This record gives sequence, structure tokens and C-alpha cells, in this order.
Amino acid sequence: MASAPKDITIIGGGIIGCSTAYFLTRHPSYSPETHRITLLEASSSNAGGRTADSITDPATLADPTTASKKNPAHEGIAGGASGKAGGLLALWAFPSNIVPLSFKLHDELAKEHGGDKRWGYRRCYASSIESRARLPPGFEGAEKEEGVDPVSSGAVAGSKGLHKDHKKDSKVRRKLDAPEDLDWLDIEGSVGRYQEMGNPENTAQVHPELFTRSMAQLAEDRGVKIITGARVTAINKTGDEKGVESVTYIKDGKEETLPTTNCVLAAGPWTRRLLPEIPVTASRAHSVVIQTPRPVSAYALFTAIQLPNGFPTPTPTNSKGVPGAHRPLRGSQVVEPEIYARPDGTAYACGPTDTVAELPLTTAEVEVDAARCEDILHQVGGISDELGRDGQVLAKQACYLPQGGPWIGEVPRTKGLVVAAGHTCWGIQNAPATGKLVSEIILDGKPKSAKLGGCDPSLAL
Ligand SMILES: Cc1cc2nc3c(=O)[nH]c(=O)nc-3n(C[C@H](O)[C@H](O)[C@H](O)COP(=O)(O)OP(=O)(O)OC[C@H]3O[C@@H](n4cnc5c(N)ncnc54)[C@H](O)[C@@H]3O)c2cc1C
Repeated sequence: MASAPKDITIIGGGIIGCSTAYFLTRHPSYSPETHRITLLEASSSNAGGRTADSITDPATLADPTTASKKNPAHEGIAGGASGKAGGLLALWAFPSNIVPLSFKLHDELAKEHGGDKRWGYRRCYASSIESRARLPPGFEGAEKEEGVDPVSSGAVAGSKGLHKDHKKDSKVRRKLDAPEDLDWLDIEGSVGRYQEMGNPENTAQVHPELFTRSMAQLAEDRGVKIITGARVTAINKTGDEKGVESVTYIKDGKEETLPTTNCVLAAGPWTRRLLPEIPVTASRAHSVVIQTPRPVSAYALFTAIQLPNGFPTPTPTNSKGVPGAHRPLRGSQVVEPEIYARPDGTAYACGPTDTVAELPLTTAEVEVDAARCEDILHQVGGISDELGRDGQVLAKQACYLPQGGPWIGEVPRTKGLVVAAGHTCWGIQNAPATGKLVSEIILDGKPKSAKLGGCDPSLAL
């Protein structure tokens, strides 16, 4: 049964906004004749946050007949973290009140819409691994100068052949308890800890950009109007301040006002710019996508890599890097890039967050520090030839991680204003549950599929 007519405006074309649009159109009370749903996305380009030589459409890697094709009118959708995340899904993620629902919805969505081919959904393993990196080409001499014995450090120049041989030695692998099919990791240099964190029963992955684009397309197919290049500047309240009246946005330099009865603020790290009282913060993170010489087995790896003396020094958290000018490390350092093998013949790896660049106006202006991408490439290449010497770098990118939440629910004292933001490092995992709960809050008047628990914004305000 259709509910009373609503003018619903979603602010933000990331995974949270697009999943919300999708679930609103799948709600039993939704009818395109009764309800108007508009999604406004500030950016009209996905080029921001990627270096000029980066791949622009990841769907070109997968089977083009089935992968989510880029809709030119959707340029700007998934331009932020939702297009540049790893895409790991896990029943062991947090918060526990929404994780099981979201994990299940991901599975159902993949079954219903062919997500395996369309957005790279598959079950996978997740493991933590401690390893020691080899020195990258051009840095071997630096270690000798420091007076470290290159043999004992496991970093002899010209060790690659030997190294490769060791890597394929299943006896060594068994000793370390690393699975046989994790054959793209140079375990010879490992300091010995391999631990399974998740398995295909409780762990999966998606390509986040393709998933987000698909949600947007599937929502549009059921009547959602998507406007990109539309940056919202104000959520306007009714005269008595108790409800939402309209949303003001700027598109092509022109100010527009959209009548709105229900507004969903899903602006990720930008949320505070429109609603300062919602405690969502933003930190920049870099990542890379590497085409491997052969598809690598389905593992997400949480690494702790010991960088030896002479290794390219990682760019400090608080200063800008200079690409191609890494100084040799004095002493050793442990870094923890995460690596995700993907079914499209690539691997994704991300590094730590930094505090150098303030959150810009839109995703289109996100600045990439190429030296930080080089850091990740050196580090993952130091433990895997597939990711280093034999891999081809397809993308160097940066985005802003929203932190502080997730906050999902009606903002106290403003009827019709719902926030869905601050999803931390599990926003891809928790997007379907967020979208479903928001659809229930708007069309049923309350969340039904899960408890909001600590996600309820009334706890913060
Ligand atoms: C390096 C990295 C790896 C990650 N890996 C994983 C992972 O493996 N698994 C996982 O579950 N999560 C992961 N995450 C977290 C996940 O990416 C985020 O939680 C999620 O993408 C947040 O989605 P969002 O839609 O809230 O925000 P965003 O993707 O930032 O989208 C917000 C959108 O709102 C738009 N917007 C902002 N202001 C306005 C405005 N005024 N008007 C109109 N539009 C506006 C922006 O342009 C943007 O497109 C990772 C994050 C990072 C940074």
C-alpha cells in the first residue's frame, strides 16, 4: 500500500546515498506515482582523487557485457571513498547491530542482480600476516652503505630467482601455516605469523565503485532522479523550525531550490559542512590498483610488513611527499598496508591515513600525493613480485574516510531530516543495511529490520 506523498531528497552519491535510493524504491510502500525521490551529488566527475594516468572505469577490466557500465549521466557517483575503498564485507565487522543484516543483504543483492559479474561479489578469505619486505630496485646499495648484512636481512640484490623459488615451495608455506594457494606472497621473508581472520562463510568482497554505480542505476530504473554536479548548500527548515521544507543546491553556477518533505543527509565526510552537530570527521587515505600477471587467489590481507634498513622511507603522516625522491630508511619500520585480491585480475592496496590536506569542497578536488601511492607500491611490491616487479599499476588514488559513526536515523528536533553518515572503515559492508533502515524510517516511520543501537543520532545530540 502506498504511503502519503513524499518529496524525498538524498544528499550524496556515495554508497550510502545510492543504497538508500535503491532500498527506498524496493520498499513495499514506495510508488513512483506517489513519491518523488531525487539524489543530489556534488561532483560531476570521477577524475578527482586519481592521478591522470589512472584507469577511469574499472568496468573495462571485467567482462564488459555483464559489468556495471558507466552511465555518462552518473559521472560523479562514487567519486569519493565509495569508489576508492577496498570492498571487504565481513560478519566480524562492526557495529554488530547492523552487520549481520548488511552482510545478508549483500548476498541477496548479488543473487538478485548478478552481483558476481556486475560488481565483483565473491566470498573470500581474510588473514593477517607478518612479513619482511625486500628492498626495491635502486635501494639495495643504500642498505650496504648503512653497514647491514644484506644476507641476514633477507634482501640480497639478485635474490629474486631464489626468492621466487622459495615462494613456490609449499614445504616452507606449510611451516608458516600459510595456505597453499596464497602463492603470490613471498613467504621466504616472512617473520612467521599467518592468522586466518575470516573465511568464505563469514567474509566476502565487492568492487565498491561498481556496486555503488549499480545501486544508482537500479534506483534510477525505478524512478529515482539523479542529478550530479549539484552541491547542496542548505537544508531549509519549515517556519516553525520543526521540519524540512526544501534543499538549496548549486548546479552550473545557478542556485536551485528543491521542495523536500524528507531529506537524507548521506554526505560521508562532508556531513558536518551541512549539519555541524553530527560528529563525523574526515581523514585522507591513499590506495593503488595493480593488474597482476595472473589472477591472484581470493584473500584480503591485513599486513604488518617490516621494512629493512635502506628501504624507501614512508612519507610522514604530517608532511607532503615528493614523488620519486624517497630517502633510504635508517633502521627499520613496520607498516601495515591492506591488500585485497579482486576477481577482475587486479589487486587493491591501501595505506594509512594522513593529516596533510584538508577536506576539499568536493571529491573532484581531492589531491593525490603520488609519493604516498609510491609508498604503498614499494611496500606491497616488497613482499610480492605479482604486486611489484611483475604487476602493472592501474590507479593511484586518494579519498577521505568518514569517521565517528555510523549515524543512522532521524536528527532530533527536525522531523523528516535523516542522517546516514560517518561509516568509518566498514561503510561498504554496512551500506545495504543503512539503506534499508533509512527506507523504513521514512516509509514506515521507524526502523524495522534491525535496531539502531549506538547508531541512533539522538545519542550524539
Ligand atoms: C582506503 C579506504 C578503504 C576502505 N575499505 C573498506 C572496505 O574494505 N570495506 C568497507 O566496508 N569499507 C571500507 N572503507 C570505508 C568506506 O569506503 C566508507 O565508509 C564509505 O565509502 C562511505 O560512504 P559514503 O557514501 O558515506 O561517503 P562518500 O563515498 O564519501 O560519499 C559521499 C558523497 O557525498 C557527496 N557530497 C558531499 N557533500 C555534498 C553536498 N553538499 N551536496 C551534494 N553531495 C555532496 C560527495 O561528493 C560524495 O560523493 C574504506 C575507506 C577507505 C578510505
